[in-house]
Formats: sequence, C-alpha cells, structure tokens
Amino acid sequence: MNANNNKRLYLFDLDDTLCDTSGWKKSWSEETDYFRLRLQFMPDAKEVLSVLDGPKVLVTAGDKVTQTQKSLLLGVRLGLENIFSEIHIVEKNEDKEDAFRAIAKQYRENSHENDRIWGRHVVVIGNRIDSEIYYGNMLGFTTVRMLHGSYAAARPANLFQIPHHTIRNLGALLRLPCVKRKSGM
Ligand SMILES: [Mg+2]
Repeated sequence: MNANNNKRLYLFDLDDTLCDTSGWKKSWSEETDYFRLRLQFMPDAKEVLSVLDGPKVLVTAGDKVTQTQKSLLLGVRLGLENIFSEIHIVEKNEDKEDAFRAIAKQYRENSHENDRIWGRHVVVIGNRIDSEIYYGNMLGFTTVRMLHGSYAAARPANLFQIPHHTIRNLGALLRLPCVKRKSGM
C-alpha cells in the first residue's frame, strides 16, 4: 500500500494557530466579557478543520477555564461543535511532549494495521518552534509552523526547532502534501 494514502492524525495548537490571541496576558476568569467579545478565530479555521480528512485533536497549554472557554467558543462560533476527537488542556507548554506521545500511541494502536497512523502521518500544527514544533520533531511527526503572533520572529535554536513546513495563514495548510482532504472537498 502506498504510504501516502495512509490516514492522518492532526494535532492542533489553539493560541495563535486557530485563534488570534497574540499579546493576551490575562486569564479568562479575570475578564470574561472582554475575552468573549475579542476572541477572533483565524479566517480559514472553519474551512481547514472541515476539509481535513482524519481525526483532529486539540492540544493546548494554560489555564483550564480559559482554554476550555476558548475551545467551546471555537465550536459555537464556527459551527464545528464536535470537530475535535479530543481536547487536551495541559498545564505547561513542556507538558505537550507527553501529551503528543500518549495521543499518537493511542491512535496508532487503534488504527488498522494496513492503515496505521504513525510517525510522519501525525501532523502537528502550531506557532511555537520551542514547543509544538520541537516536540513534534522529537517524536518523528510532520511539523507545520504557523507564523503568527509574538513567536513568529523566533529563530530555531537547534535542528529540532526547524519545521518541515511553514505557513503564514492557516488556509495554506490545505496546500501542503502532508495533509489529506476529504474526498470531493
Ligand atoms: Mg500557540
């Protein structure tokens, strides 16, 4: 079987990848209405999440209440309530490594042997080269850097911080060879 036909698993970051939160410092519980009104999702977020073929998992770090509210708003505003197979909210960015490893293992073990999701078939999309990109590369995944927000200017400090692909807007993800679209979309 052609390995390119294998299923994909997508691990999405939230802040400055699916929603524009550059410069935000406060937690949701401090200024609820302010955040609710201001929260903007990337213009292509709905199309990208709808078109990609394969399970999509949200992995985000930070305050549990804040990140939960953001992910709920994403579902409601974009009309994509059940778009993520799972949502993982970890405390710190460093916790993403363990989360990525556990999620990939679970999907690998649950996928059919002829259509196994492993290695490069796991696609990580995030804005931080010292977090999503670094851990994704360490684990042998395909990494896509979203150039947005305060980390857009960061330079790789080592080989593992160099992404396989770099995109300036989320919609460009759909043109990369590492992703698969649903048939007919
Ligand atoms: Mg981020």
